[in-house]
Amino acid sequence: MSARFQAAVAGGGTVGLACALLLDRRCDWDVALVERSPPRDEEGEGPQRALTLSPGAVEVLTECGLPSRPGHAFSRMVVWRGEGGPASGNSITFDAAELGVKALGCVAHQAPLRRALWDLAQDCRGIRVYSGAELASVRIDEDCGHLDLDNGDEIGAELLIGADGAQSKLRSALGIEFRSIGYGQTGLVFEADCSEPGGDTAWQRFADDGVLALLPLSETRMSIVWSLPDERAEQLKRLDDKGLEAELNEAGAGVAGNLVAATPIASFPLRRGKAEQACGERYALVGEAARTVHPLAGQGLNLGLGDAEALVRVCAGQGNALIGDARVLGRFARERARYGEEMSWGIHAINAAFEGAMAPLAALGMGAVDRAPPLKRALAARAMR
Ligand SMILES: Cc1cc2nc3c(=O)[nH]c(=O)nc-3n(C[C@H](O)[C@H](O)[C@H](O)COP(=O)(O)OP(=O)(O)OC[C@H]3O[C@@H](n4cnc5c(N)ncnc54)[C@H](O)[C@@H]3O)c2cc1C
Repeated sequence: MSARFQAAVAGGGTVGLACALLLDRRCDWDVALVERSPPRDEEGEGPQRALTLSPGAVEVLTECGLPSRPGHAFSRMVVWRGEGGPASGNSITFDAAELGVKALGCVAHQAPLRRALWDLAQDCRGIRVYSGAELASVRIDEDCGHLDLDNGDEIGAELLIGADGAQSKLRSALGIEFRSIGYGQTGLVFEADCSEPGGDTAWQRFADDGVLALLPLSETRMSIVWSLPDERAEQLKRLDDKGLEAELNEAGAGVAGNLVAATPIASFPLRRGKAEQACGERYALVGEAARTVHPLAGQGLNLGLGDAEALVRVCAGQGNALIGDARVLGRFARERARYGEEMSWGIHAINAAFEGAMAPLAALGMGAVDRAPPLKRALAARAMR
C-alpha cells in the first residue's frame, strides 16, 4: 500500500519518536514513523540502560506530551580524579542552588521512556506508525522522498528524517559517509543498591583505567555506567557478584556507602562517529544517525533530543511552502554542527586527557575549575542544554 505524508521518520527510538511528536504539535504535519522493533512488554524485566537527561531534554520530552518528569531528579554532581574519594581535592562539585536552577538533570530508564513516547505516537491522529516494518530501500526524486518497506508498504514524503540510529540505513542508502572510530573501550551498565541513601547526588570518578559514573535512580539505587578499556571490561564481566562488588566498591571510594550489584551487566562498545553531512535536499539526520559520542558526559540522547527540537523549530519557522528545502534544512544543520562538534570534541578531549600523560594536569585543572565559579557556571550551562 502506498501513502503520502509531509514527513517520514525512519526509526522509532527515543529521538525519532520525539521528532514525530514535535512535528505533529508544532507543524501540524501528517507524519509517518517506521520502526522495525517496537517496544516489548517484557522489556522492563532485563538489565536496563539508564540515562541522564538534561533539563533541556526534559523540556523537549514534556512538550512531546509526557505527563510527568521522566525520572529521578538530582541537584548535585561531584566529579573527581585520582586515588581516594572526592575529598582528596581534585574534584568539581556542581550544585543546582549555586547555579540558580531546580535540578541539574534526572536519571531515567530508557525503555519506559521510549514506551511512553511510543504510546503517545500511537494515539496521535497526525502520526501513522508503521510498526515492525524495516526500511528496504530509500530514494529521493525532485519533489518527493520515498521509503520502501520490507512488508511492501511504500511511503512518499516531502521530508525524510533519519532517526534510525548509529547504523542508519537511511544514511547509507543516500550514500552519506559516517566516519567512526572505536575508543577501545566498553561501557558496562548495571544497577547497584547503596547502603547510604543519597538520591540527590550523581558521582563521576576518572581513574587511570576508566570512568565510573554513579547515577541516582532513587534514594538507594544507583545506575552504574563504567567505561573501561575492553580487556579490563572483559575481566570484570567474568567476575562473580562478590568479585565485581569488591572492584566496584574500590572504584567508588565509598561515596554512596557499600554498593551491592542488583541487576546483570549489559555492555556496549564505545565509539565516536559523525555523518559527513546532516541534511540535504529532502532529508535530515538526527540523533545517533547523525553522530555518536562517548557516554562519559551522558550527552548522546540529550544531543539527539536537541537535534529533534532544532529541526522542528526550523521547519515550523518556515511554514509549509519549502518543506524539505536544503537551504532551510541547512539552518538546522549549521546550528547543530556547531553545538554537536563542541560537545563531541569536548567529550573526546576529556577522555583523552584523563587517559594519557595529561592525566595529572587534567586533575589539577579540575580543582582550578572548581575554584572558578564563572567557568564552572559556563560548563554547567552547556551540559544542561
Ligand atoms: C553505555 C551507554 C550509556 C549512555 N548514557 C547516556 C546518558 O546518560 N545520557 C544520554 O543522553 N545518552 C546516553 N547514551 C546515549 C543514548 O543511549 C543514545 O544516544 C540514544 O539512545 C540514541 O537514540 P536514537 O533514537 O538516536 O537511536 P536508537 O535508540 O538506536 O534508535 C534507532 C531506532 O531505529 C530503529 N531502526 C534502525 N534501523 C531501522 C531500519 N532499517 N528500519 C526500521 N527501523 C530501524 C531501531 O530499531 C531503533 O529503535 C548512552 C549510551 C551508552 C552506550
